[in-house]
Amino acid sequence: MDPSDVDCRTSHKPPVDPAALKHRDLRQDEFWRSLPAFQKVDSKTFHSHTFQMRNSITSVGKLMRTLEDRVPQDFYQDLNQGLHQAPMSIRLTPYLLSLIDWENPYEDPIRRQFLPLGSQQLPDHPELHLDSLNEQGDAPVPGLTHRYPDRALFLALDTCPVYCRFCTRSYAVGLDTDEVEKVHLSVNQDRWEQVFAYIESRPELEDIVVSGGDVYQLRPDHLRLLGDRLLDIDHIRRFRFATKGPAVMPQRILTDVEWVDAVAAVVDRGRTLHKEVVIHTHFNHPTEITEVTRQAMNVLMERGIPVRNQGVLQRGVNDDSETMKLLTKRLSYINVQPYYIFLHDLVQGVEDLRTTLSTGLEIEKDVRGVTAGFNTPIFIVDTLGGGGKRDAHSYEYYDPEIGIAIYQSPTVRPGEYFYYFDPIDCLDGAVQDRWADPIEREQMKEQALAAAKEAVGV
Ligand SMILES: *Cc1c(COP(=O)(O)O)cnc(C)c1O
Ligand code: SF4
Repeated sequence: MDPSDVDCRTSHKPPVDPAALKHRDLRQDEFWRSLPAFQKVDSKTFHSHTFQMRNSITSVGKLMRTLEDRVPQDFYQDLNQGLHQAPMSIRLTPYLLSLIDWENPYEDPIRRQFLPLGSQQLPDHPELHLDSLNEQGDAPVPGLTHRYPDRALFLALDTCPVYCRFCTRSYAVGLDTDEVEKVHLSVNQDRWEQVFAYIESRPELEDIVVSGGDVYQLRPDHLRLLGDRLLDIDHIRRFRFATKGPAVMPQRILTDVEWVDAVAAVVDRGRTLHKEVVIHTHFNHPTEITEVTRQAMNVLMERGIPVRNQGVLQRGVNDDSETMKLLTKRLSYINVQPYYIFLHDLVQGVEDLRTTLSTGLEIEKDVRGVTAGFNTPIFIVDTLGGGGKRDAHSYEYYDPEIGIAIYQSPTVRPGEYFYYFDPIDCLDGAVQDRWADPIEREQMKEQALAAAKEAVGV
């Protein structure tokens, strides 16, 4: 077309068909009734936290009693085999279990995140180590990682309402498994006091991430004690309660008044002291968000409790632009602010869930722009060996052919270089052979490092 033909008047966007606004279309049917064990459970019972806790799935036996013949027997065998090689034990709420599409369990994004199958397992990456982020190496006292200048990560406890396959903290969180004997960080007043004493002794700390494990598991009185203790420290200006709760058991926010009151009391007291207390949660897929989630998030909004989201990019779960855009829009719609999407860390037994860095970079480009910038997640690589979080785009060097990326981290460890590795099964056959050879592997790493140094100009 000749450029002079272009009509220079404003072009108005045509209105969008409301049916296309899928992010507002939240599930509100009685979806749990299709599972044999929950067939007769009414809505009020199902959507209570006591029912959710009592009926959580903590073993294959309990899963079989809940699902019965909704899946063929060989699914259970596959699951047993997957669990045998997994670093995490199994724990899943009835709510999440019912949101799985049991007609297609092999492909379902929620099943993938919580129930490992032997048939989908891939060999671990050769550069994998337990605690790959070196959280324990950066811990001055047990359960407190002080890596960044002004903030620290407090692992207050080591249990969660669910156990996620991809958990970075599989070195500590959950029960011991066939594969892993864990570091134990239970709720313990002496250990907590050591943590508070350290935070008090460090005036540079302004921001604490209270995580675990999961603060959803904390008793209301423990939660208040912890919150008050942190608010009492003059130089602490803000902190976050990290919990997967809203994504896996929104019912607690609707029916456990004492727990919500405890969080609200800490948030309110923080506000009078001009300190910010927020919840950070963890949704990964749009189907995890239902009408019940929206109601729960409405309660938090009414109580003045801000919520942000940190998700993980996972193969077969959310590694396509349409899913990630829908997740971003849906979170924004229920007033949860998308904050981070992490490229999957190197974790034992979950190589099938990792994606390449280039996948993450492409999706980021598609997501940016669909909604407000403050509701658009930053895609993050948490570098191996404790370099900390980096914007995925900010590598010094990346060769997608061999699957090696290198980052610097000037505020955390100036002058050093940190690796991130793509999953090997996504690389070309010939390159996979090179990875299988320890000498070639070292060569590839050294060449990548040399190229990164050249790019930086040293
Ligand atoms: C993620 C993390 C934090 C918080 O980092 P933000 O970028 O502020 O979210 C603090 N300490 C450690 C060790 C962390 O891993
Ligand atoms: S809820 Fe968080 S800490 Fe707990 S298992 Fe899942 S990812 Fe790990």
